[in-house]
Amino acid sequence: MNQQQSQYLIVGGSAAGMAAAHAIREQDPRGTITVLSGEPDAPYFRPLIPFLVAGKKTPAEMAMTGCGPYTGANIVVQTGARVASVDPLAHCVSLEDGTHHGYEKVLFTTGSRPYVPPDIEGTDAEGVFALRTLADARRMAARLHQTEHAVMLGGGLLNLKAAFALLEQGVKVTLVIYSPEVLSQLMEPGDATLIRKALDKAGLAIMTGVAATGIMADASGVTGAALDNGSTLACQMVCIGKGVRPNVEFLTGSGVAVDGGIVADRYTGASLPDTYTAGDVAVTHEPISGTPIMTALWTNAVEMGRCAGLNMAGVKTVYTGTFGILNATQVADEPFVAMGVVHTTGKDCEVHQKTTASTFRKLVFDATGTRLIGAVLIGDITNAGLYRYVIREKMDVARFKRPIIDHTLHYGHFMR
Ligand SMILES: Cc1cc2nc3c(=O)[nH]c(=O)nc-3n(C[C@H](O)[C@H](O)[C@H](O)COP(=O)(O)OP(=O)(O)OC[C@H]3O[C@@H](n4cnc5c(N)ncnc54)[C@H](O)[C@@H]3O)c2cc1C
Repeated sequence: MNQQQSQYLIVGGSAAGMAAAHAIREQDPRGTITVLSGEPDAPYFRPLIPFLVAGKKTPAEMAMTGCGPYTGANIVVQTGARVASVDPLAHCVSLEDGTHHGYEKVLFTTGSRPYVPPDIEGTDAEGVFALRTLADARRMAARLHQTEHAVMLGGGLLNLKAAFALLEQGVKVTLVIYSPEVLSQLMEPGDATLIRKALDKAGLAIMTGVAATGIMADASGVTGAALDNGSTLACQMVCIGKGVRPNVEFLTGSGVAVDGGIVADRYTGASLPDTYTAGDVAVTHEPISGTPIMTALWTNAVEMGRCAGLNMAGVKTVYTGTFGILNATQVADEPFVAMGVVHTTGKDCEVHQKTTASTFRKLVFDATGTRLIGAVLIGDITNAGLYRYVIREKMDVARFKRPIIDHTLHYGHFMR
């Protein structure tokens, strides 16, 4: 069989894949590294794509080239190269175009794709989007000229980002959320009050406790969204933000263990020899409880990808896991951080909360009150790094619990 061959083959060229390629090159200056990327675009910073819709950045400004790890490092990136199947015994992958690529070690960093609920009718209409790729962002931007009103289904962070991009372009935006409040995965409804106020002030219309049942369209594309309360919203664009699903289908029949995502061991190894995994597609573990977990965060993907690259290059490196919830960002000029255990209603834990006109702080300790296990900070996010450290290291906080609660913790408190 006529096929290309690489020492290190990486399937998926984004946060995890490119971080891995870089880490391998640091350790192995000469080994051949090939990245197969299913997208037509060269690797780019995915979290920036809403800025393309907002008209604030060009694709060139989002490219990893220049600041990306592979520049000048003799890492081959093949775009439009989608892997269809893997034969771990033969150490070979087959691409959708019928070609094959052999490897000594392979890393799966195929990430995730938006989940489109099958019970909503009409999601294939023109003008329905789920913002994931640069190509999606280009298509959204191209429809702006005929969009007065956009309906966003889902109140998660990605939809909020997309909503603000549209607002900046003068589009009227309505968020339709089934949960009682925005960002329900990251905080409890009562915790989101300040963020909700900021969203209202920014001009976002928000409907809670409602779901879409269908999307109407004519020859021009989307014309409206039907809701389960019997009402209809006239609109020219619908954006679906209902979470993501891992891209694992190409592993069918390969024998590589998949349980939701690709199962990773503590050294980022997948289940068969010479196979590794990292990023959104990987099932790793939660550092506090040790339970299996999948996340969808750029920083986690880079960290795990780098760890996988080191392991592939022979530098045995343990991956210490990741919080299920770890997010530090800004919504409507309101900075916030959510990490660890944040949903506390009905749970056996100790919660300390403080609200001012412009800040909200929730600190969650375990039932014994001796370990910090979660935090939500809105408005004032100072100390977030310290809290993350305390949670991650599972520190006994007896000596500095009061400074944590009073928000006066500093590194001096860790010194004995
Ligand atoms: C709009 C938006 C905003 C975001 N904002 C933030 C943020 O503020 N902070 C944050 O931490 N995270 C954010 N994220 C999430 C973050 O982008 C992801 O967690 C991160 O990109 C995951 O990286 P990854 O390398 O694991 O996978 P991905 O970035 O999903 O990349 C996987 C790549 O593999 C390719 N691929 C899939 N299947 C195949 C195949 N069979 N063959 C070849 N290639 C394949 C895909 O096409 C894709 O290019 C955002 C995401 C989006 C969409």
